[in-house]
Amino acid sequence: MTQVLASTELTRPVLIVGAGITGVACARVLRTHGVPFRIVNKGMKIGGRMASREVRDSGTEWDGRVFDTGASYFTVSDPDFRLHVQEMRDLGIVTEWTDTFHVADDTGILGVKVGPMRYSAPKGIRSVVEYLAQGLEVFEGEIDSLDVTEERIALCVPTPQAARIFPQAMEINPSVWEPVIVVSMLFAEQYWQDFDGIFDNSASAVTWIANDGSRRGDRAPALVAHVHPVLSSHHLADPSAVIPFAVNAVQQILGFDHQPTWTSAHRWTFAKPVEGTTRSEPLFHAEPDGQVFMAGDSFSDRPRVEAGWISGSALGKYLVGTR
Ligand SMILES: Cc1cc2nc3c(=O)[nH]c(=O)nc-3n(C[C@H](O)[C@H](O)[C@H](O)COP(=O)(O)OP(=O)(O)OC[C@H]3O[C@@H](n4cnc5c(N)ncnc54)[C@H](O)[C@@H]3O)c2cc1C
Repeated sequence: MTQVLASTELTRPVLIVGAGITGVACARVLRTHGVPFRIVNKGMKIGGRMASREVRDSGTEWDGRVFDTGASYFTVSDPDFRLHVQEMRDLGIVTEWTDTFHVADDTGILGVKVGPMRYSAPKGIRSVVEYLAQGLEVFEGEIDSLDVTEERIALCVPTPQAARIFPQAMEINPSVWEPVIVVSMLFAEQYWQDFDGIFDNSASAVTWIANDGSRRGDRAPALVAHVHPVLSSHHLADPSAVIPFAVNAVQQILGFDHQPTWTSAHRWTFAKPVEGTTRSEPLFHAEPDGQVFMAGDSFSDRPRVEAGWISGSALGKYLVGTR
């Protein structure tokens, strides 16, 4: 049970660490209730693992095109999140991408799997967080210690990153995190049959291939492969070294042998908490002294984009006293 904050606490300013979807969801609640806060994010761009990067120096017409290099898509079940997604859909920021993916092993495609609607963003999934963060002033910087200040501190970052500045974090939320190296690939033309995404649950080098041309809606001959966590973990020091393995796995699954014209590898040391190692309740953590708080996708038994939104919103409501 989380204790109720005293009314004098509720107006104390908040330092939000992290401007991914969790930190932004938290900040929006504080803004609505007039509680002072500042939000600080490591890196020049906000969005965290909802990341997109531009193609550069490919020598092709696709320079400037955006690839999604973190979360592939998101799903919606929470009524509050749904309202925001509907608003973004009306504005063209997100689209209903697909409810059907293929499944494969290293011999090729095995069948299809229908699931919930997956949403994507034509301008890249980072644009979702950028839209939700409109009007919020985000300061660039890395918080590397928890100085005792007048501020309450809301850690809205992956638990292992929270543990660097708040060592108890991993005991409070002992989730197991796995790495993923994401390989983006451009080809001269589309050498594959139409598909949206392919899960490979065999021990192949890749676990997932997204057709980024279908996801983005521009039909670019562009694929994004997620490298198996075990293979990724062996190459965190040199992510580009996995590119040949990823290309080879993609060729085998999709049945062609053409080489990409441009590739890029992105490393996520803490990509995702492993399902089954996270906790669904409570939706955030509050230290008994009312000084430090934690929220994020690992406060859910279904760690994903929507979980970050739900956890960050719940923490925000707690900090303003409406929860
Ligand atoms: C490869 C990959 C694939 C994924 N696929 C999917 C998917 O298909 N569907 C889905 O729903 N989810 C997916 N996810 C998970 C999804 O991206 C996350 O659940 C969600 O983005 C979590 O958001 P967050 O705000 O909690 O954390 P983050 O997005 O990690 O944001 C944390 C922010 O805090 C910043 N930060 C960290 N430490 C500090 C510090 N000390 N000081 C200041 N700032 C700091 C970081 O730079 C970052 O911007 C995927 C993730 C990855 C990496």
